[in-house]
Amino acid sequence: MSDLIFLDSAGSSIPPAPVVDEVIGHLRRETEIGGYRAAAERRDDLEAGYGVLADLFGCQPSEVAFTDSATRSWLAAFDAVPLAAGDRILVTEAEYAGNAIPILRRAAEAGAVVEVIPSDVHGQVDLGALDLDNRVKLISLVHVPTNGGLINPVNDITAAAREVGALVLLDACQSTGQLDLRGLDYDMLACTGRKWLRGPRGTGALVVRDEVRERLHPRLVDLHSGSWTGPQEYALRSDARVFELWECGIADRLGLIAAARYALEMGLDVIEAEVADRAKRLREGLAAIPGITVRDLGERQSGIVTFTSERVPAMEVKDRLWQASVAVTVSSAGSTLLDMTRRGLTEVVRASPHYFVSHAEVDRALEIIEQVVSRTR
Ligand SMILES: *Cc1c(COP(=O)(O)O)cnc(C)c1O
Repeated sequence: MSDLIFLDSAGSSIPPAPVVDEVIGHLRRETEIGGYRAAAERRDDLEAGYGVLADLFGCQPSEVAFTDSATRSWLAAFDAVPLAAGDRILVTEAEYAGNAIPILRRAAEAGAVVEVIPSDVHGQVDLGALDLDNRVKLISLVHVPTNGGLINPVNDITAAAREVGALVLLDACQSTGQLDLRGLDYDMLACTGRKWLRGPRGTGALVVRDEVRERLHPRLVDLHSGSWTGPQEYALRSDARVFELWECGIADRLGLIAAARYALEMGLDVIEAEVADRAKRLREGLAAIPGITVRDLGERQSGIVTFTSERVPAMEVKDRLWQASVAVTVSSAGSTLLDMTRRGLTEVVRASPHYFVSHAEVDRALEIIEQVVSRTR
């Protein structure tokens, strides 16, 4: 579908040629010499991948772990945070269902409480409403929510968390690959490959700062995370790879590394500016269409553009747009329950244009959206 206007990089983006070549090339090589030898041939590249991801995040290679999804990264980090009865876990109103469910489950098991940090008038985390004490063990912070354009502050929250010894787990699923994250302060960060980073599906990464690793207790460990040193003894790795398992899709990992390298070569500042430019054009165009309400919150906004139509339900808008070769998705209340409930929304249409979407394509998409929402049938 060459005439497809692709506005779904927040869902699963379109990988660039170097990523696809890397993945397919490696799968081919596996058919020639088998998976072990093929991986051995790429050992140096796989090792260098930790440095590439470290460059992307502005962290140390020892702080990087590769995983198979953002969720896997997030769960590995979350499950490693010690929790006891009476402890407090703070979440934001932008919390994602995939994080909320394990948080609620573990909190109930541990006797911990889950509290929501209120949002300010812009819809972002309200720093003034942060109520911290030494019972707060974890702040689960969504950097960019899945259902809207806001960008939550990070460094101020982490600074406050440090004062009471709470850990900050940053969900950077929707910011990795569209924003420059190198100046951010957090203890742990989870990201996916398939969204703004344009990597393969089934890839993700975890950053765990060296300073906090000792405070964490990784739950799922194997013969890669540790070594069996005696009949009754084992030793765990002393870097973030303690959160990895031995087996992984080597082709996909090479694809993820290629995607990160591609983003770095393009320039994270360039990407951030180009994405913001497309999103602004789309938001302004949408706001001018009768019957459309732009639903994005936030003082500073990301590449995620959400809207509703007065007359046409979100799912139908999405389907009609797909028929007209415009790819968008729908974000439903179930994935960001707190925020959607607070705003009285059940569904929003989500359009997420990456830098590879031209101005002409944004304008064409706006024309098509206008047609689609003015038809009742
Ligand atoms: C997509 C998303 C996730 C989960 O990513 P997976 O790749 O499905 O594991 C987590 N948090 C947010 C905010 C997301 O948008």
